[in-house]
Amino acid sequence: MSDQDDLHRHASTAADEVVDLCRELIRIDTTNTGDDSGPGERAAAEYVAGKLAEVGLEPRVFESEPGRTSVVARVPGEDPQREALLVHGHLDVVPADAADWEVHPFSGEIVDGCVWGRGAVDMKDMDAMMLAVIRQRLREGRRPPRDVVLAFLADEEAGGVLGARWLVDNHPELFDGCTEAVGEVGGFSVTVRDDLRLYLIETAEKGMAWMRLTARGRAGHGSMLNDDNAVTELSEAVARLGRHRFPIRLTKTVRTFLEELSDVFGMRLDPDDLDATVAKLGPMARLIGATLRNTVNPTMLSAGYKVNVIPQRAEAQVDGRFLPGFEDEFFAQVDDLLGPKVQREFVQHNIALETEFEGALMDAMAAALRSEDPYARIAPYCLSGGTDAKSFSLLGMRCFGFAPLRLPANLDFSGMFHGVNERVPVDSLTFGVKVFDSFLDRC
Ligand SMILES: [Zn+2]
Repeated sequence: MSDQDDLHRHASTAADEVVDLCRELIRIDTTNTGDDSGPGERAAAEYVAGKLAEVGLEPRVFESEPGRTSVVARVPGEDPQREALLVHGHLDVVPADAADWEVHPFSGEIVDGCVWGRGAVDMKDMDAMMLAVIRQRLREGRRPPRDVVLAFLADEEAGGVLGARWLVDNHPELFDGCTEAVGEVGGFSVTVRDDLRLYLIETAEKGMAWMRLTARGRAGHGSMLNDDNAVTELSEAVARLGRHRFPIRLTKTVRTFLEELSDVFGMRLDPDDLDATVAKLGPMARLIGATLRNTVNPTMLSAGYKVNVIPQRAEAQVDGRFLPGFEDEFFAQVDDLLGPKVQREFVQHNIALETEFEGALMDAMAAALRSEDPYARIAPYCLSGGTDAKSFSLLGMRCFGFAPLRLPANLDFSGMFHGVNERVPVDSLTFGVKVFDSFLDRC
């Protein structure tokens, strides 16, 4: 390295650094296969810990199982008496099949002004933003107003059992004093028009009920009469579930979101036909539609071992998601649809979340966004999926999705999550670090 490079490095800002950090994280394959056959997060965790140690922090590295690694560091604030803020990102990614991609998913290449790769939006972008902003602040001696706990977590893509949840259960002291948390999925822009962008802040999450369904019947020869066939019984129940349209249930978050939306789009909301109203929103309908109601999608089926043998049992798996406040209703309806002959058990069951769209932290997010985008306006929304926020809420934290990105109007952002050709615009990353830095000033 020449003196010139060295000088440049010391003068580099978060906006200079964030792109390289994101690319380097993408190049470290942290695929989470859900069954521990993947590479784990250790290499990425060591990389992150190194970057934090370089600016004087004392990161702690935890392994729930060999290779399943998370990193936590506390950044001391100006007022240690104040309650702390948790900022969390996950290090793992979902699998990617290179054959389907235009750019190799673990190359971190920059093409057409975007950083490409698995994790570019979910969520090595935010990990890189967290690192870049904290590194710049500490190089400049700028402490946040209160303690900020940084967590880079394993295993989010399989429910966080070996990451966030493991830390919450085994090392809750790491989060002492944390009453609020920010992580994925929120803070991204939806362009309404040139002079108005809506930034969606996640304030609610649906709960999760991944279930195994089992029907038992009488085994026997495929040529004989059989009125107790497990395959028939199960298929009917799966079809009833799959075709069922759960009733619309407006949670507080979704109601506020729809009001904001009708306001900015100048669109009348027809409470009797919300599906039709939401359909007018184009690609956003995919994001919003699933937060109007509970859902169940059948995803796996298995039964039998030979065409002329009626098996004794048949199994299916279904992915159920329920709105905050509507869990009991969800299970009552599911049980009605299943009927008495099909049993259900959980593969995974996790809570729904909802917090108020108000407070000083929300004001800080709005002000930080407006400091970089004068046409920013914020709205709350409910995520139809789940995040590590579920684990942190068990410690009593109010959880928000805020990973700020100003996006080009034509980018199908929701399609990037777990999709092929996942990518994030370089400009969005540099915008994000400025907003995040401003947010930490105000937090
Ligand atoms: Zn994620």
